[in-house]
Amino acid sequence: MTPVEAMERIVHCLDRSFDSGHRAKAFARALDVVRGTPMDELRDRASHDTLTDLPGIGDSTAKVIAESLAGEVPSYLVKLEAETVVPITVEGARYRAALKGDCHSHSTWSDGGASIEAMARTAQTLGHHYLVLTDHSPRLTVAHGLNPERLAEQLQVVAALNQQLAPFRILTGMEVDINEDGTLDLADELLAELDVVVASVHSKLKMERQKMTERMVLAVASPHVDILGHCTGRLIGKRDQSSFDADYVFAACAQFGTAVEINCRPERLDPPRELLDLAIGYGCWFSIDSDAHTTGQLEWQPHGCNRAAERNVPIDRVINTWDADELLDWTRAKAS
Ligand SMILES: [Zn+2]
Ligand SMILES: [Zn+2]
Repeated sequence: MTPVEAMERIVHCLDRSFDSGHRAKAFARALDVVRGTPMDELRDRASHDTLTDLPGIGDSTAKVIAESLAGEVPSYLVKLEAETVVPITVEGARYRAALKGDCHSHSTWSDGGASIEAMARTAQTLGHHYLVLTDHSPRLTVAHGLNPERLAEQLQVVAALNQQLAPFRILTGMEVDINEDGTLDLADELLAELDVVVASVHSKLKMERQKMTERMVLAVASPHVDILGHCTGRLIGKRDQSSFDADYVFAACAQFGTAVEINCRPERLDPPRELLDLAIGYGCWFSIDSDAHTTGQLEWQPHGCNRAAERNVPIDRVINTWDADELLDWTRAKAS
């Protein structure tokens, strides 16, 4: 294990543990420094005890570097590997074992922290057959949303990566913003080219109840939308859920065959229990998605699996238990 590999793995483990961010940020910064430093220099500095003279390298990172240079698995990493395993219940494990892919993920092309390739390779090591890449749409400028030109570029990059990664597949997609009037933040003909489309509300979350209901129902009714992302928009302990008539929204999801996402991010866990029960009652489809912005976050599906198991989501209604071809048959049938 090289120092870079050891540091990458440490950042991955911190990310999957939903670390408050302080340690993860420090290690991510140190990782950049280690990446930019030649191996010879690292070796030289390790033997002279001057690693900590490098910017961003403290005692614990220096130890990680020195141990990996000595051919050992750094003791800090061994400890983290054990401490940061994402907890899963016995019942949740049944759902996790059934999942063949993940339908919501981000890369450095929008606001993610890892390359498309790193995300795909991690999804592969997690046992997935596919990963849907759903970077943000243009309007979300804070998240570097993709305009049509960049999306076209990304599709080429994905096609080339798929040649290398086969039989694993990166499916193309987007997390498209639901505009205030219920229209979508990308033209229909472009959405139609994508394998899987997640539609989410990211703006005006406090909109008046009836308007929000109309907005969401309109989006869900679009033949190009496959999944309704994090429906309430809540951030646990930070932001209340949006107000909308969930009966109308889930009835529309069931009617138009749009899956309700079970968002696995620990700060979202969306929909909340009572709404998940309601969606089950309407016979909705579901997708248990990590909404990962880093490789470590791809390990968050157990959070959603535990919740799905707790509320008894019918496992045969979970669309990412299907293989890629079945999923594509479903999304295409919907769009035609
Ligand atoms: Zn989102
Ligand atoms: Zn997202």
